[in-house]
Amino acid sequence: MKNIQGIAASSGIAIAKAYHLASPDLSFEKKSADNPNEEIERLDKALEISKQELEKIKEHTKKELGDEHAEIFSAHLLVLSDPELINPMKDKISSDNVIAETALEEVANMFIDMFKNMENEYMRERAADIQDVTKRVLAHLLGASFPDPALIDEEVIVLANDLTPSDTAQLNRQFVKGFATDIGGRTSHSAIMARSLEIPAVVGTKDVTSEGKQNDMIIVDGNEGFVLINPSDEELTAYRQKQEEFAKQKEEWAKLKEEPTFSEDGEQVELAANIGTPDDVEGVLNNGGEGVGLYRTEFLYMGKNELPTEDEQYDAYKTVLEKMGDKPVVVRTLDVGGDKELNYLDLPKELNPFLGFRAIRFCLENENVFRPQLRALLRSSVHGNLKIMFPMIATLEEFRQAKAILLDEKENLKNEGKEVSEHIEVGIMVEIPSTAVTAKQFAKEVDFFSIGTNDLIQYTMAADRMNEQVSYLYQPYHPAILNLVNNVIEAAHSEGKWAGMCGEMAGDPIAIPILLGLGLDEFSMSATSILPARTQIRELSKKKLASNKDKMLTMSTTEEVVEFVKELTE
Ligand code: PEP
Ligand code: MG
Repeated sequence: MKNIQGIAASSGIAIAKAYHLASPDLSFEKKSADNPNEEIERLDKALEISKQELEKIKEHTKKELGDEHAEIFSAHLLVLSDPELINPMKDKISSDNVIAETALEEVANMFIDMFKNMENEYMRERAADIQDVTKRVLAHLLGASFPDPALIDEEVIVLANDLTPSDTAQLNRQFVKGFATDIGGRTSHSAIMARSLEIPAVVGTKDVTSEGKQNDMIIVDGNEGFVLINPSDEELTAYRQKQEEFAKQKEEWAKLKEEPTFSEDGEQVELAANIGTPDDVEGVLNNGGEGVGLYRTEFLYMGKNELPTEDEQYDAYKTVLEKMGDKPVVVRTLDVGGDKELNYLDLPKELNPFLGFRAIRFCLENENVFRPQLRALLRSSVHGNLKIMFPMIATLEEFRQAKAILLDEKENLKNEGKEVSEHIEVGIMVEIPSTAVTAKQFAKEVDFFSIGTNDLIQYTMAADRMNEQVSYLYQPYHPAILNLVNNVIEAAHSEGKWAGMCGEMAGDPIAIPILLGLGLDEFSMSATSILPARTQIRELSKKKLASNKDKMLTMSTTEEVVEFVKELTE
């Protein structure tokens, strides 16, 4: 029995057995072979098991995600059957008298190095395929189990050091009841995805993977940020009760699903949702979302081996717009980089990826990637209420440049006889302090702002959003942040524009009264936060909060702000 404190990342309570999603230790001692024939047999066996596994994963992926996503596994299977790769391994065992592990690793590395340096993109991708399958075969040779999240077929809680966004995308909602990770914060993308998948999650526990063993009984309390390992019978009963209470609470919230959002004193705001895929729209509508305030298009580019085509993107955007009807949908152009990597783009590793070559910086330099996305968006605009938003804007020139490319593509499409809406608002994410400070200048040119506090806080406080060691500095209610947010809202209003927020702060019950008082127009959050937020806002007086705005903005510390807001809203 052990209780571990982490960061509450996605609400709800989950109870199930642990499933370790840790990469196995693949180190081994390079010994000489006692019996080379036996080593060749071991290699054959490991290759065979790996093939069987990959066939299963391929079938599963085909069923769940479609042919295209399954293609990568066909490529992996081809690698495992390629005599040009396998025969040299066997030759090496016989001629150099080495164990199967050594032969596998050395021959694979030789091919990986060769392919990695080739001009041809297709060949470079083969290097990644060989790398992936070699790990699987090596794990089998070493008797280690290789985790396959897509193949989970019983109810589990996934324990992992970290989950990449593409790991998270593979989790099957039917069986993965919750997850807990060692690292990460509330705004790491695995946490954000857990909320859109509505899976209870706790992140940043530091040691859940070393404390929790495979098949241990686990409780994930995503409301309080606790993980219980092998709980007592009393704890289990108490948590089952909490699970029921939470379900009842959700029923209460659901009564407000079709209602607009008004404060106690009759001021209306918009509650929108953040989504990552067209499938998430269902959750938005089920949770009473009045729009999509942020569609993170990165996920269209992930979990595959190449860029999505213009038509694929058009289909995704059209689906979202049509499902949302006349409700607004803010689509953000590609925000790759930071913790969102795309292997096939082969971007150099950077020392500070969050400060590096990402988002609009990458897109402006790679128009071959940017233009197809803009074209797909423009073409989709006739199917709903589309707004386009550029991420990571640091200077007005960047916005002007991005908008000019957008207008250029609009012109091209019209010349091609394609229809484009004439009412697309074009706005920016405000997530870099330079932009928040000079919001007044931006407000003259953009149609709207959406404040990205996940990044704005990390850049303002110089505290990495992924690093739990500096999470004490990641303070959403710090007066520095509130002043920047206020500056953005005032700048927007002075030019007759609207200001929203799509960072996680927008759905935070402590921040909501502050933001209402500062005059935020649109709050965009995880779909599951919408109904609790609507419930809360109905009990708040916007006038009272607004009349205390100056006091809030001149406070000295986060603690003072939190105390003050508590008093004001009691
Ligand atoms: C943000 O930075 O607040 C934001 C919404 O973008 P992301 O979390 O995708 O970086
Ligand atoms: Mg951001």
